Amino acid sequence: MRKLALPNFTVSDALTACLAHVGDAELASRLQSVQAHLTSAEQDYDHNASATTLHKIEPTDDVLGLVSKKEMVALYEGNFRRTKTQGRRIYDALKAGATHGICPLCGVQRANTLDHHLAKTEHPTFSITPINLVPSCSDCNHSKLTHQPKSSAEEALHPYYDDVDDARWLFARLIEEQPASLIFFAHPPSDWDQTKRARVIRHFDSLSLARLYTSQSSDHLPSMRFRLERLLKTVGPLGVREHLIEELNDRLKDRNNSWQIAMYDVLSNSEWY
Ligand SMILES: [Zn+2]
Repeated sequence: MRKLALPNFTVSDALTACLAHVGDAELASRLQSVQAHLTSAEQDYDHNASATTLHKIEPTDDVLGLVSKKEMVALYEGNFRRTKTQGRRIYDALKAGATHGICPLCGVQRANTLDHHLAKTEHPTFSITPINLVPSCSDCNHSKLTHQPKSSAEEALHPYYDDVDDARWLFARLIEEQPASLIFFAHPPSDWDQTKRARVIRHFDSLSLARLYTSQSSDHLPSMRFRLERLLKTVGPLGVREHLIEELNDRLKDRNNSWQIAMYDVLSNSEWY
């Protein structure tokens, strides 16, 4: 998972933008009446997300009994996500927060949507709260578990609040068959606390990242093999290893975890390969 900078927008900005397109005066008035509550809930969210205690925020069926879940979801879909609305400008700016347009959750696919970190069906209060809206690819958005976590260890990693790239945790095993293939696995460092270790493993499993990374590397390995065979003829096996180590070290300057880093690591250490 790749860490992202916190959004520059507040729920108050989002609500103001959405209200520009609410024609029903009675609904507009009810939405205005919950504005202060949405702001205090946003502060509460920020505090809990920083402490990995978002699981303590109880699901609700509405916002203060004044705005229903259905109305909040409709507000998000119709006045925030829908193109050519003022809300959409914030939606697009949040989506653009993904580094190089890549989904921060898998680090591979294009971030083409926003994921409600706390699901809007469980937590309508956070339907349009920017810090709850994380750029993601459709696959990660769909495979994220929607169940309410019961403990910190069960909380999904949050790109605005969590940093799990301070040490290496993503590794690969080489399957020594023709054609060679890789199996990826999460192995967090033993000096991390139990909660962080559990969350990384959960993240890796729930998003089926092993499958995604194997497919990415399987696509990449054949073309790489031609290049390495050419190198083998000119610089020999030691030269090939040096090349793989160089590729690994160049990538490690940028981050600690990616399927490419895991791949170059296992290949440069393999006698067989
Ligand atoms: Zn993704």
